[in-house]
Formats: sequence, structure tokens, C-alpha cells
Amino acid sequence: MHYHIKAKVPHSYRLKNIWIYYAYIGIIVWICSTMFHSRDFWLTELLDYFSACGIIVYAMFASISFAVPWFQMSKNGRVVWKIIGSGFLIFYLYHIYSLWIKFDYAYNMLCCIVCSLTTSFLYLVWAGYEVYKGQKRKSLAYLVATIVVGLGSVLFEVFDFPPFFWIIDAHSLFHLATVPTPFLLAKFVETEASYEMRRRKYDGGIFDKNV
Ligand SMILES: [Zn+2]
Repeated sequence: MHYHIKAKVPHSYRLKNIWIYYAYIGIIVWICSTMFHSRDFWLTELLDYFSACGIIVYAMFASISFAVPWFQMSKNGRVVWKIIGSGFLIFYLYHIYSLWIKFDYAYNMLCCIVCSLTTSFLYLVWAGYEVYKGQKRKSLAYLVATIVVGLGSVLFEVFDFPPFFWIIDAHSLFHLATVPTPFLLAKFVETEASYEMRRRKYDGGIFDKNV
């Protein structure tokens, strides 16, 4: 995802850095998760939970940043965007602090599921509105595929079952389902960024030019 976005998304795209940081966080999550599943002790377990929670909260921030271009395209918008970003950071730090003091598995799971559902809901409302306006562009299909695979992987976490052949359990399938997600998301970002840049060029866009 990092390579794809760095190479194929124009530098002037309003969210290029947001998606690049997303890819960096994804790399950290994968490293933490690999460490935990190869050496299971308290520190690797906490790192796995903290990093997973980090990407879920960041994904929610990215979805809001994406859905409201005003945050990047106007002076006031940027101020509000920074305040919202700081709010997310404080929420995340408070969340991992409370887990550090007392690890509550159910509370952490609930937080992660609520954030994931909110992110998916926001994207689906945005995509639904685009379709309603008569849009049929490819990026919408990539976005819906990302959400379906992403929510599908969450189902493996929520509905646990005994392992097949004592090898493949629900959590392993959850990790397997997270493999295509960054590829689909990268394709969505690339195609949507190219569409948005073209639209801004040709019709002047909906954006505030008093920046
Ligand atoms: Zn895991």
C-alpha cells in the first residue's frame, strides 16, 4: 500500500500524507501481530492490541478527513481538522492508558467494533450518495469491496468457532482476510485521487479557492 500510494497518487492530492501514514501504521500493526503470534507474552500481547486499536482509530479519522474535503481546502477547515485530529489522538492515548491500567477485553473489543462500524458507515453513506448522484466510477466498487472484506474479517473476530483440523481457527482466518484489504484500499485511494484531481482541474471543483 505504501509503495502504491507513494508511486501512483499525485503529490498535490489533499490526503496523500494521510494515506501514507495509514500504510506506515499498517506496517507497525503487522510487525506487532507477527511478534505476538510467534512469541506470546504480556508485552507482545499489549503491543498487538494497542497497534490494532491504533489503526482502527486512525482509519476512522482518515474516513472523516476523506468525506469532508473542506478540512483540507480552507483555512478554517484546517483548524477544525487539527482539533478533530487531536481529539482522536487524545481518545486513543486515553484508551490504551486505561487498558494498561486494567485490561478489559470486552471494553476494548466494543470500542474497536464501534469505531470500525462508524468508519464503514461513513464510507457507505458517502458512496451511496455518489451512486445516488449517478456516479458509477471504479473507485466506488473498490471502496465497497474493501468494506465487505474488512467487515467480513471482523465477523471472524466476533463469532469464534473451534479450529478446523485443530489448525485453522477464526483468528487465523481474520488475519488472512486482512491480507487483501490494503491492496483494495490502495486501489480505491489511487483511482479516487485521480478522479478528484481531474474533476478539480476541469470544473474548478467545489472547493474554497480563498486558501
Ligand atoms: Zn492476531
